[in-house]
Amino acid sequence: MFRKLLIANRGEIACRVIATARRMGIATIAVYSEADAGARHAELADEAWPIGPAPARQSYLDIARILDAAKRAGAEAVHPGYGFLSENADFAARCAEAGLVFVGPPVEAIRAMGSKAESKALMARAGVPLVPGYHGEDQHPALLAAEAGRIGFPVLIKASAGGGGKGMRVVERAEEFAAALEGARREAKAAFGDDRVLVEKYLTRPRHIEIQVFADSQGNTISLFERDCSIQRRHQKVVEEAPAPGMDPARRAAMGEAACAAARAVGYVGAGTVEFIAEGDAFYFMEMNTRLQVEHPVTEMVTGLDLVEWQLRVAAGEALPTTAPQLRGHAIEVRLYAEDPARSFLPATGMLTHLRQPAEQPGAVRVDTGVRQGDRITPFYDPMIAKLIVWGEDRAAAVRRLSAALAEYEVAGLRTNLALLRNIAAHPAFAAAELDTGFIARHGAGLLATPAPEARLLLAAAALFVLRDQQAAIAAAAASSGDPWSPWATPDAWRLNGEGYQDLFFRLGEGEPTRLRSVPLGEGAYRLELPGDAAVAKLEPLAEGFRLSLDGITRRLGLLRRGAEITIILDGANHLVVQEDPLAPPAREAAGSDRVTAPVPGRVTRVLVQVGEEVSRNAPLLVIEAMKTEFTLRAPMDGVVAAVRARLDEMVEEGAELVSFAG
Ligand code: ADP
Repeated sequence: MFRKLLIANRGEIACRVIATARRMGIATIAVYSEADAGARHAELADEAWPIGPAPARQSYLDIARILDAAKRAGAEAVHPGYGFLSENADFAARCAEAGLVFVGPPVEAIRAMGSKAESKALMARAGVPLVPGYHGEDQHPALLAAEAGRIGFPVLIKASAGGGGKGMRVVERAEEFAAALEGARREAKAAFGDDRVLVEKYLTRPRHIEIQVFADSQGNTISLFERDCSIQRRHQKVVEEAPAPGMDPARRAAMGEAACAAARAVGYVGAGTVEFIAEGDAFYFMEMNTRLQVEHPVTEMVTGLDLVEWQLRVAAGEALPTTAPQLRGHAIEVRLYAEDPARSFLPATGMLTHLRQPAEQPGAVRVDTGVRQGDRITPFYDPMIAKLIVWGEDRAAAVRRLSAALAEYEVAGLRTNLALLRNIAAHPAFAAAELDTGFIARHGAGLLATPAPEARLLLAAAALFVLRDQQAAIAAAAASSGDPWSPWATPDAWRLNGEGYQDLFFRLGEGEPTRLRSVPLGEGAYRLELPGDAAVAKLEPLAEGFRLSLDGITRRLGLLRRGAEITIILDGANHLVVQEDPLAPPAREAAGSDRVTAPVPGRVTRVLVQVGEEVSRNAPLLVIEAMKTEFTLRAPMDGVVAAVRARLDEMVEEGAELVSFAG
């Protein structure tokens, strides 16, 4: 076994690999970009080497710098994680040239599976079922259109070199084919430097079911069963589970066999995933990912195996265990992303000002993450915050545990998909395992809603939190003054005559501010004049968070304050209450819409207008790329471009003014 392993990755997967390596007594070397100085993965490793600036191209994708770090640190092997260089055949080849073991499949296997089109041709020859389609070399638009007609609409155009859902277009009708082809090609060219595409039948209500395979260099290839990854947004996975609901042993065996045949056809060694799209009883090969998948933990939970351990063992030349793997219980993973589901999953960036993760329970609740409270989600990399994986005796038990664990999550500082995940976990259609790739789109609005707890509860929590802060401030001032026992220093609105009270004003949502009169009752309790009725309320700190008692009912909640904004985290959902100062001047009018600002921090990839150009409302102005996604900024009005403040390839901050107009 290797003594020293370099992990050519970052974030949760780097941390994940480090954990197994450590358990196996293998020393770990992390690499980190300037944006990741002090990141969790760099801190966990035995050594951490800087490899360049924040943009991935200059650090995590820079083969020379990574190999240089590996050589200088004395690594014997390199684990590429997923993403970045994990499916880069050149990287694997150059590791070998440098005398390093690449923890992954042979270079030829990566190459063979690297192109969706070529791998499909290969699979057809190996007898693996394919979605009806065209994946030939001839890329003439007329030929592609004719093939689309032959396949029958709707069809899906996919970038042959594709990944991450880029360069994909659904085409419903023949008339739309030419334009869609052009769009897919442009996107593919920009993302992969290769505009070849394939065309296949678009299945309207499919499931994504993939098989985890493992092969050793002795010629053994096994299936570690399936994962169902049907719950997706924009063709990207959000929820994954194992086993796939409704999978019967015969079908599992057939899919496992097809996946092993696919792996054998390319001389596969190591961990790999063969992705199938399934509809009814039929299943078709989509692609093979020649690396460890994001969602590998669900397979680990149901098999009890450590896939990273087996990757390392196989890479070191060991044979797979001869005992047949067993499937036990049910596991579900959800991906917590910094993004805004209400704004078409726009990635979010910023600091995780508050982060409380569910308590881990060995074998039952697992959190894989690369960040801690106070860390930043930057525009340079994938916006995933963490993966939550749960296990249960059966699917129903796993779903219950998922909901319970999600309720423990508290995240503040940036927008996340936490409410979406909670709503999926609680959805009757999810409980009934009615899964297909259209799940999120179909259940739409219902999945985006956040529960609205009683206004009384939120107002009481906010008021008591503000009063607590006041008390602490007054107590601190009194302690540092000459007379700590002065009645004036007692922070309880005590008056010389009569009942003392204090009025606080809060705004909840869009409505008018609510006046809330509070009367101290001693020992931290207050009488609060809440909407509806007055109540006795009390807020007590816990080791983590607070306990609020209101109307005799106690609840745990998280409370955070930033200026006048108080965030109340209840059952994993964030609610904002703003403290108003009735004497403050009215807020300045919001900036007019005669300018366009960056919705996310990112890199400008296209500038489509010039100063002086006349544009109509909704005309595309600029394209920004952030976190693997492109955002087209459009004109808010008809007008003349007065200024363009962004250059091609420039990194822009969120909120930066990019284009302004003369009306
Ligand atoms: P990428 O590599 O870009 O992620 P994939 O080929 O893995 O693209 O496909 C991603 C997702 O797109 C699948 O999980 C599925 O939801 C959807 N998809 C792919 N092919 C088809 C198809 N023929 N019909 C319907 N949906 C498809």
